[in-house]
Amino acid sequence: MSRRRIIAGNWKMNKTPAEAVALCNELKDLVKNDAVDVVYCVPSIDIVCVADAVKGTNVHVGAQNFYIEDKGAFTGEISAPMLKEAGVEYIIIGHSERRDIFGENDILINAKVKKAFASGLKPILCCGESLSLRKAGTYKEWIARQIKWDLDGITADQVKELVIAYEPIWAIGTGETATADQAQEVCGLIRQLIADMYDAATAEAVRIQYGGSMNAGNAAELLSKPDIDGGLIGGASLKPDFGKIVNA
Ligand code: PEP
Repeated sequence: MSRRRIIAGNWKMNKTPAEAVALCNELKDLVKNDAVDVVYCVPSIDIVCVADAVKGTNVHVGAQNFYIEDKGAFTGEISAPMLKEAGVEYIIIGHSERRDIFGENDILINAKVKKAFASGLKPILCCGESLSLRKAGTYKEWIARQIKWDLDGITADQVKELVIAYEPIWAIGTGETATADQAQEVCGLIRQLIADMYDAATAEAVRIQYGGSMNAGNAAELLSKPDIDGGLIGGASLKPDFGKIVNA
């Protein structure tokens, strides 16, 4: 079975609405590739204008965060129905910056995965180990534990629509990329875990990305690995280089 490649940019807290539209226009021709799902995960304030700017292109819109309730007294939050109506298809859940800076734990992340599916949003579920866990050699157990918690109560049919991003924290924004073999080892382990938790068909279908300082120079090697179906890209998603990653 061949899985469709998915290259997603995580713009993080970058680009005002006007800058976001300018970036969409700059990247428009560079990211053309009918064989790849291209996603821009943009700041909430940019969603409406980016959805408009990419209309009629191969680019899908993603968000970086939401809350699990539809509406109400949750100051500062944004809901899944709001994102859907604005044109969002994908939602990043469990990014290490949300876990570490904003204190999101696996219970909330699991609730977000459930809410995303219930709302018709496709989760990009992030997992990954710190440098100390990598050095201690316990990173495989850590990642397996994250996935088991985060997917508790999620059905096989839902997992088939899921994207999992393996993002070693020590490689995010540091310029230090996991080697293609290191990335493949963990992405392969995640696929095996999904086979154990669900079945072989579900493991075959789930798309697994690598994220962590992926750039125009290292993308082709990382993406050549059998269990790496795409990338979640931070810094390089804000530059013309992103087009080179899409077409790597
Ligand atoms: C990320 O934040 O998801 C990421 C992978 O960032 P960068 O590409 O900048 O390391």
